Amino acid sequence: MQRIDHPLPWGMPGTQRSLTVLRFGAGSRKAYIQASLHADELPGMRVAVELKRRLRELEAEGRLRGVIELVPVANPIGLGQMFQATHQGRFELGSGRNFNRDFPALDVLIGEALVGRLDDDAEQNVARVRQAMRQALDNLPSAGSELQGLQRLLLRHACDADLVLDLHCDFEACVHLYALPQQAEALKPLAARLGAGALLMAEDAGGSSFDEACSTPWLRLAPRYPQLPLACLAATVELGGMLDTGAERCTAQAEAILAFLAERGLIDGAWPEAPAECCPATPFDGAQYALAPHAGVVGYLQPVGARVAVGDPLFEVIDPLDDRHSIVRAETAGIVYARERLRFAQPGLWLVKVAGATPIRQGRLLSD
Ligand SMILES: [Zn+2]
Repeated sequence: MQRIDHPLPWGMPGTQRSLTVLRFGAGSRKAYIQASLHADELPGMRVAVELKRRLRELEAEGRLRGVIELVPVANPIGLGQMFQATHQGRFELGSGRNFNRDFPALDVLIGEALVGRLDDDAEQNVARVRQAMRQALDNLPSAGSELQGLQRLLLRHACDADLVLDLHCDFEACVHLYALPQQAEALKPLAARLGAGALLMAEDAGGSSFDEACSTPWLRLAPRYPQLPLACLAATVELGGMLDTGAERCTAQAEAILAFLAERGLIDGAWPEAPAECCPATPFDGAQYALAPHAGVVGYLQPVGARVAVGDPLFEVIDPLDDRHSIVRAETAGIVYARERLRFAQPGLWLVKVAGATPIRQGRLLSD
């Protein structure tokens, strides 16, 4: 294991944060796994602890068939953001920006640089594009903030990987994944191994999130350079709810991820087969984000993982002063894959998410 420490820019005098990447194995294939980019989403960090332990073992046994880079703390800025005993790891306190939005668009940065540089050697073309991506990130003007510096470092390590997994969680949730529709089939073995309840597919969820920053450049370069494959399989993996940091669950999730890496040719040896059963891939614009019609105290009427039909009650909200009582119902048939942890309804904040098969939303799909 090699440990790489990158100092982040714009540390205040007397403070210096750094990003640490753990690198295992060697070879031309590469997987990149990061945890807790939303710094208060800690199941990924716990899974990364197991991954680190196991990758050390596998490396010592000579079983790694490529490079695996692991970033157990993808967001040291957010990790330190305790505000009056509450962890605020999703938005940078100084700027209000979501840590997992607005990553650089590599296809825009390298599009022109590829003119005349690709031929009919598919493997070489992929290598040339990756080289151009690394170069483009290195050639950017200095980062304007600590957050921008962090985002560029993360993408610099991930952009030349064959497989990228960004480990997150929701408030209360079953395991679910976000990725490109073109990659649904390739990700099903991982979803099945993790016992996922939903596999949400979108080509552009509208936030330039990390997984899309890794996978979509290939998609967007393809019309102009049809010889390019979709060379980066990337997913945001929501490992469950915020409280799911228990050893048994996280150890099993780490083993599931390692078995998937083995299936993708990065690790040798015998691994359990992926279960044949997997949740269906559904369009992300088919997910209902159920909101309350007014303020009030919330009671849920469905557990996470429940299968609901149109019209089934999802939650009730009650105004404690005027006794207004509303039941919010499913507008699509599907799986309740996430619930808010707060029990007080507020304007514009979703309370339940249902993964349905029929598109019902337009525009920006990601909430902030
Ligand atoms: Zn997250």
